[in-house]
Parts: sequence; C-alpha cells; structure tokens
Amino acid sequence: MAIGSLFVVSGPSGVGKDTLLQRVLSRLGQGALVRVTTATTRPKRPGDLDGVAYHFLSRDEFERRAAAGWFLEWARFGGELYGTPTGAVAEARAAGRHVLIQIDVQGADQVRALAPDAVLIFIAPPTMVAMRDRLLAPGADARNDLEQRLQRGAEEVAGAGRFDFVVINDVLEEATDELEAVLVLHGAAPAGPTPAQRRLAERCTAAARRQHLDALLADR
Ligand code: 5GP
Repeated sequence: MAIGSLFVVSGPSGVGKDTLLQRVLSRLGQGALVRVTTATTRPKRPGDLDGVAYHFLSRDEFERRAAAGWFLEWARFGGELYGTPTGAVAEARAAGRHVLIQIDVQGADQVRALAPDAVLIFIAPPTMVAMRDRLLAPGADARNDLEQRLQRGAEEVAGAGRFDFVVINDVLEEATDELEAVLVLHGAAPAGPTPAQRRLAERCTAAARRQHLDALLADR
C-alpha cells in the first residue's frame, strides 16, 4: 500500500486558516484526510476541547514527551510549546491515509527536514493591512496579545517562500478552490485532479506567488 501524503498547513493568525480548512475538508468529504491533533502547553480557550483542538499538556508532561522523542517536531510559539505527535502521523500514513497538520512555520521547516515528501502549504493574506483588519475586526477574539500576533504574522510571512504552495485567502471561494486543487493534486481525491485543478495548483506554487510574497514583505 502506498504511504499517505503529509500536508502541512501554516499561515499567520488572522488569515482565516480554520474557516478555509473546514470548507475544503467538507468539500472533500469525511475520511479524505486525517487531521492529526497536535499538543500544546497553552491554556484552553473557550470552546477548546481536549483531544480535538489540541492535546492540552502541562509543561512538565510536554517536556517529558519531547525528551522521549514523542514529537515529530515541536516549537515555541508565543511563550508556549506546540508539538506534532509522531505516532499518530506515522500510523495514519502507513495505513495509506493522507494526513493534515496545521502548525507554525518553524514546525513546517522541521517537518521539511524530517519528511522531505511533505507538501507544505502556506495560507497568505491578500495584504498585511487586511491581516491587521481581520485581527481587529469586531467579533475577532479579543486576546490581548494582538501586537505579538501581528509581529509573529509578519515573521511567518517571511518564511512563506520556503513552502511548496501559497494560497491567498482573499476571496474565500477562490481560496477554497486553490487549496482543494493543491490537496487533490497530491492524492486527496481518488479521481485525481481535473485539468482545471492542475492549472490552479500550478498558479499556487511559491515560485508563481513570488510577486505576492514580495509585496507582503515590503508592506510589513
Ligand atoms: P493557537 O495557540 O492560536 O491555537 O496556535 C498558535 C500557532 O501554533 C498556530 O500558528 C498553529 O498553527 C501553531 N501550532 C499548532 N500546533 C502546532 C504544532 O504541533 N507544532 C507547531 N510547530 N506549531 C503548532
């Protein structure tokens, strides 16, 4: 049996990754991809379910598992630790399932080094102003680390050129088509990509998105 693909999705806070992923996963249908739940030491936010949003671990427990080689990669983000469990990823892939993890750019770099066949997808904002506006929008969650998140968002954008694909989340429907095309190109639908999806994925390569990334970086 062929090993399943490993999709790594990253992007700054406020870029709409969750909405986009939910839409694409519901289009592809239950079972097309396994979303592996990662672990963190950060406190739960309202609505976060243990084992669903994350495996919530104490710092001691996280460090113990990190030392025992439990994580494929782990990184510090905003003073908290986040890590991807190796076992869940390896087991699903070995069973031929495609796996998707949503992690930060430092984690994506580590995955690239350990699993060179991983497909790295960066979700980029249309502009840095749009990203700031989304973080500030009424209804956006009012965490008080806004400045830090903006700063980290800019740092994440600086690493986007190292990804295989860059999806620009400007018009949600178009971004959904783009992300779906990239996932399908790498096996997420049994029928494989349509010619239109191939063309769309081609437009999302990091090389094809160079100008957009340069414009974002100039705007930081
Ligand atoms: P949040 O605390 O807002 O849920 O997530 C903060 C950041 O941590 C996001 O960029 C998210 O993608 C990233 N993240 C979540 N799980 C992991 C992980 O296992 N490893 C790494 N490196 N980053 C993660």
